[in-house]
Amino acid sequence: MVLTNKKIYGLINEIAGGRAVPIIEYIKNRKNVSEFIIADKVKMDMQTTRNILYTLNSYNVATYIRRKDRKKGWYISYWTFNRKRVKELTEKLRKEKITRLTERLKKEEANKGNFFICSQACARLDFEHATEFEFKCPECGNLLNQQDNTKTIDNIRGKIKELENFDSEKASKKKKQ
Ligand SMILES: [Zn+2]
Repeated sequence: MVLTNKKIYGLINEIAGGRAVPIIEYIKNRKNVSEFIIADKVKMDMQTTRNILYTLNSYNVATYIRRKDRKKGWYISYWTFNRKRVKELTEKLRKEKITRLTERLKKEEANKGNFFICSQACARLDFEHATEFEFKCPECGNLLNQQDNTKTIDNIRGKIKELENFDSEKASKKKKQ
């Protein structure tokens, strides 16, 4: 997999939110960067910066070492981006998403034309559950209408395909085989 910046920031955003992106942007090509320098460069307060850094560390996409500051006497953490882990994690999350969507697709296909939706859109039930509630919305009591889920099925299929082709390099290799 070619790890483009777009892929890196996409993953970082997914696991730690948009505010983590500038942090990674800053430490990406550096090593052992002081947490104080990071906070200063991304213009965030220390607490927020630390929270984000520890979230990133919980996924192991950023690692740190702690060193005692000789002058001040307290410990400072120094951060390094773990590029290798981003690759692994991207792959892992992608596979998990495909698995989840494939399961959903199976369910949708097994219940083709057999979903029931509330006119207020507060609930969507399969046939079995719709009968259980006598075709009335369990939330608001409105009648449930049968829903054509062809679009939903197409939608899920499209998403799966997109995820499968995410790694275009691998996809083109497969075609050649
Ligand atoms: Zn309802």
